[in-house]
Amino acid sequence: MTKRIAIFGSTGSIGTQALEVISSHPELFKAEILTAQNNEDLLIEQALRFKPSIVVIGDDKKYQKVKDALTPAKVKVLGGEEALSEAATTDSYDMMIAGIVGFAGLKPTLQAIEAGKAVGLANKETLVVAGDIVMHKAVEHKAPVIPIDSEHSAIFQCLVGETRNRIEKVILTASGGPFLGKKPNYLVNVKRDHALQHPNWSMGAKITIDSATLMNKGLEMIEAKWLFNLEPSQVQVLVHPQSIIHSIVQFEDGSMKAQMGVPDMKLPIQYALSFPQRLQSNFPRYDFKKPNQLTFEDPDVKTFRNLALATDALFKGGNLPCVLNAANEIAVYAFLRNRIGFLDMTDVIERTMEQVPFIEKPTLEEYYESDGEARNFAAGLIKL
Ligand code: NAD
Ligand code: MG
Repeated sequence: MTKRIAIFGSTGSIGTQALEVISSHPELFKAEILTAQNNEDLLIEQALRFKPSIVVIGDDKKYQKVKDALTPAKVKVLGGEEALSEAATTDSYDMMIAGIVGFAGLKPTLQAIEAGKAVGLANKETLVVAGDIVMHKAVEHKAPVIPIDSEHSAIFQCLVGETRNRIEKVILTASGGPFLGKKPNYLVNVKRDHALQHPNWSMGAKITIDSATLMNKGLEMIEAKWLFNLEPSQVQVLVHPQSIIHSIVQFEDGSMKAQMGVPDMKLPIQYALSFPQRLQSNFPRYDFKKPNQLTFEDPDVKTFRNLALATDALFKGGNLPCVLNAANEIAVYAFLRNRIGFLDMTDVIERTMEQVPFIEKPTLEEYYESDGEARNFAAGLIKL
């Protein structure tokens, strides 16, 4: 039986790698739905190659071009924001790869879960914003949520066969990003192009900046709490610049399990697609005999204050992670457009977290309102 896959965000870093995995196992997987926001040329190329039944282009202005290109190939083309919902709620797929970046991924992912579909979750913002609601709905609708984020895939793999065993803590490893060891007097002058050079991973622009500020690890702490039902104090971050150990689970008997390998997102993507099976692959293997020391250190949260802000949001909970995420999205896009400096991103997020009223147990509507309020306030600070 081929598994029919819907790739939400097919033109992104996760989406294109998911298509590579699918093309290596055509007998097992079929790309049935592809969606993208605006890279219409790549979307058309992907659709002509993979022949999905449905394609969604988010940007309305690109709709006609995509439709004209794909109608002869009998691909149904939908356009606009609502089309994402239409695709997420069809019966024509079995599993969603949630590869949209940012808050925009929340709604279609929730819709897939409500339809009882399996979800391979790359879009961490979905859990940062509304993790309680998302995980509750996943249980209610028996929708498996399988992490793709490499650290969470590592933890997920370590937990196979351990369902009854208590976790003492999880240790999320962090590369430290391109500015590991740097201090504020250096970071204040950092520019976009430098921050976009990640030492170990090639990823979309937003997550690459989040990795440089360590916000990515903060978002991942919150993601881990919801995925694995942990207390905030059970989630620890450890800097490991080589990115070979992808994360560690420590059990109550003191035993630790780690998952390791050469950094390559195709591995966690393939594992999510094939779980509980593993499939043969030609991904590079780590060689212990090569001179490459594995090192570990604590994160510098005094310099990389985004991680401290995210930890605060993790512990306080409520709508604070949602507010943190919204302010961060605004700040990162402003930095990418050279509107604010590297360290200004932290100030924008901190002030927005102080501003938006705290809600202890928000409804989904209240999460949307908090997101909107935080975006408006953060944009006002930057004078966008
Ligand atoms: P990317 O920017 O490369 O791709 C994003 C995709 O989402 C594109 O296809 C784009 O068209 C689509 N998109 C963007 N905005 C949209 C919107 N408003 N509505 C609908 N679609 C939209 O991003 P990426 O690096 O592939 O990351 C995707 C998600 O996966 C992020 O949440 C990221 O944190 C997570 N993730 C990525 C990696 C990685 O290696 N790239 C690793 C772990 C987790
Ligand atoms: Mg990660």
